[in-house]
Amino acid sequence: MKLNYYWQSWKLTSFLLVSILFPPMVVNAINLNTVNLEKALNGGSLEEVAADDWKLLLGRGDLIGNGAGLGEMQFSHMYHSLPQFITTCLNSRSCLVNESHRGVLLQISKIARKNRDLKTKLIFLSSKEYPNFFRSENDPETRIAKTGFRPDIPVFINIDQIYEGDGSVAVSSLEMMSILLHEVGHQTGERSHSYLNDIAVRVQKFLNFNYMSIDQNIGDIEVKAEVFNFPSLNATAKLFLVLGSESLPLSRALFDRINCRVGRQPIGYQIVNLHWEARAHRQGDRIVASLGGWLDISCIDRSSDTIWDESRSVLIKFSFAENPDSVANDHPERVPVVTYEILVRKW
Ligand SMILES: [Zn+2]
Repeated sequence: MKLNYYWQSWKLTSFLLVSILFPPMVVNAINLNTVNLEKALNGGSLEEVAADDWKLLLGRGDLIGNGAGLGEMQFSHMYHSLPQFITTCLNSRSCLVNESHRGVLLQISKIARKNRDLKTKLIFLSSKEYPNFFRSENDPETRIAKTGFRPDIPVFINIDQIYEGDGSVAVSSLEMMSILLHEVGHQTGERSHSYLNDIAVRVQKFLNFNYMSIDQNIGDIEVKAEVFNFPSLNATAKLFLVLGSESLPLSRALFDRINCRVGRQPIGYQIVNLHWEARAHRQGDRIVASLGGWLDISCIDRSSDTIWDESRSVLIKFSFAENPDSVANDHPERVPVVTYEILVRKW
């Protein structure tokens, strides 16, 4: 009996001893991660969450908007374009920034370039699901975006503020760019909201000057083309086609269709006089339209190291069908299936 008592108490003691010396690390770590993540989602510190733990958010069913809606897609395109927007602004005389702004912009560009393929660079959250997340103590308004003071913390976008009640996107591409500049600006360690707003406004002004968009509606479907031109010889214009609930970047495809005269290679282009060649109309179950414009191309002759201007006209014929099977998240729009053809001609 006594022996049994000692044995039982030894078992208990050794169990406690083992538990203290070797705590169940794995289980503990997972709990701790989730706890910090939950705290962060409810308005706690984002800095407490380890870089890798943000990935836990990607697979969660209570998150909406993982890039499928038009607004999310456009934010993602703007994120990818940030480095080019910044570089062209910094290289232009019409970009009104001082040396201190310039330093911050270079850091922002570096972070955006490094993070652009990360799945967690942008995370879309609903302020209805997480009411405390987009609020801060000294700001009564619910914010549209939020991040922390480290590059590995995602930029969170409040999905409830990027759509109108009817499902259309409430934020323009330029505003998205401005929001992203501000947020990635915080990731450089900069804490002042007003300083970052000031920088974002300066870049937005520069881009606005070089931005044009044309749009039309067919029924309740919007068809839009957006161009950002850059006043720099070797910069490629950014061209996006917005079709219903899809945003299609076309700059690269267009660049690949451009040929200069023999012995020269294209290094950049601008698109001017963008217009509809054919208004959007229905053809069977598809919507068809075509877009025209002129190209000012910079062509380099490497044998003499000279850059020549060449001109072309461009015609982009496209068609798309709203696919009834794919409904993007909880937005009612359907995802279109697009085909397009780019024709570049000499005058
Ligand atoms: Zn801020």
